[in-house]
Amino acid sequence: MSSKVIYQNYVHGKYLANGTGETFEVINPATGNVSYLVEVATESVQQAAIESAKTGFAIWSAMMPIERSRILLKAVALLREQNDDLAAGEVLDTGKPWQEASVVDIVTGADSIEFFAGLAPSIEGNQQPVGADFYYTRREPLGICAGIGAWNYPLQIACWKAAPALACGNVMIFKPSEETPRGAMRLAEIFTQAGVPDGVFNVVQGDGRVGAWLTTNEDIAKVSFTGEVGTGKKVMAAAAGSLKEVTMELGGKSPLIIFNDADVENAVSAAMLANFYTQGEVCTNGTRVFVQQDIYPRFIQRLKERTEQNIVCGDPMHPDTNFGALISRDHQQKVLDYIEIGKKEGATLLTGGTALTPDNAPNGFFVAPTVFIDCTDEMTISKEEIFGPVMSVFTFTDEDEVIERANSTHLGLAAGVFTQDITRAHRVIHQMQAGICWINAYGASPAEMPVGGYKMSGIGRENGSETLKAYTQIKAVYVGMQSLESPF
Ligand code: NAD
Repeated sequence: MSSKVIYQNYVHGKYLANGTGETFEVINPATGNVSYLVEVATESVQQAAIESAKTGFAIWSAMMPIERSRILLKAVALLREQNDDLAAGEVLDTGKPWQEASVVDIVTGADSIEFFAGLAPSIEGNQQPVGADFYYTRREPLGICAGIGAWNYPLQIACWKAAPALACGNVMIFKPSEETPRGAMRLAEIFTQAGVPDGVFNVVQGDGRVGAWLTTNEDIAKVSFTGEVGTGKKVMAAAAGSLKEVTMELGGKSPLIIFNDADVENAVSAAMLANFYTQGEVCTNGTRVFVQQDIYPRFIQRLKERTEQNIVCGDPMHPDTNFGALISRDHQQKVLDYIEIGKKEGATLLTGGTALTPDNAPNGFFVAPTVFIDCTDEMTISKEEIFGPVMSVFTFTDEDEVIERANSTHLGLAAGVFTQDITRAHRVIHQMQAGICWINAYGASPAEMPVGGYKMSGIGRENGSETLKAYTQIKAVYVGMQSLESPF
């Protein structure tokens, strides 16, 4: 018998036993040890989650939006109060540094709920006269929405999906990644504590099979998915069976373009943030760094120096650590395999390229921050999402050339430009085929700003007032004001 904690699924405001005792293990990526076990959402749990969500929807959707807003703001306050405890949980599950989780993950999740709670009472319809008659519109919630999350920002993703859904009067059944199942449960507890009615936010646990159930269940009106492009295609195809709405937040292979006139230290900071933050496991990563020829030697020199001197890899809970462990042994191996492919295909390692075994976390799944130079556009590492700390650097000569090369990918999540020339900055960014763009910045994603992908990086947006439309449907009501004419 294991002495580890066993979490159950969270349904109707409390933890619910799955009846079979079937569990899966969750591994701490920094130690390789099992942290805790989680019960799989069996059929009985799935059925209970749906019934509970129906009950929750009847109550939540009938509330005044301002009441919903007040309750959600209580959850925001609780998230902030419990920041350090929640952040520590995210570190143990993901392997990311405490330095990051304590100031980003919970904070940005809470920001999103606060933002949408603020907007909830402002959701309105309109009316228009049609002769003596008129019509009006109502923005109504969709019903039961499913959220399916990835493992890189577990609690933040749960917040970003729940925030607009709940603010608009929907309920959500959320399935976190099986590698990081804890954050969503903690959020569910906080919602209950804040007064969110039972059934409004249920959490079901398991792998892709539980996810697949959510995508086919006919009582679910919408699926908001975050994950890989390949999984996204399966989710969308399955959702088509019952014509569910979908939001897809998928992968990227984003360009970061650095012109000769860029501030070199800022450009190096951006390239490092865009490849080494969360040890490279960020969907918007600028993994293709295009550097104009004149600034290239200085850029490469500073990039190498700063990567080798300033990265502190090790136990993610140590306050000095700024570079953590990858999510799993399999993922570590996948990233190392890509590095081998890069070398074989002719790229030159500027730095990194190996697994790491830091003294204070010798069994963790670490890969050194890695920079390849002499990369060409055709290499595998230039085309495929690696989702680890592997940067590919390219050189370019002129603007038109770099725009074309930056856009020559089927992905289109993000893009960045560094230049002091204000007209060029906007001219180039306007031509980027990407949904999330930065000028002289990289990675910032405030709740007010809509984010999502072009091309195969996604459909729909998260955050920003834009997202309200994705969680409401319009009802048009025509009102006759006169005697009804009829040929019959
Ligand atoms: P993944 O696609 O393997 O899994 C994502 C989720 O889908 C998990 O919860 C998984 O259990 C579930 N799932 C698997 N098969 C399913 C199926 N057939 N039906 C329904 N659900 C299923 O992705 P991952 O490895 O967890 O996350 C990494 C990926 O996520 C990267 O590609 C990254 O770029 C992407 N990502 C995108 C964003 C964004 O906002 N665009 C944010 C974070 C991560």
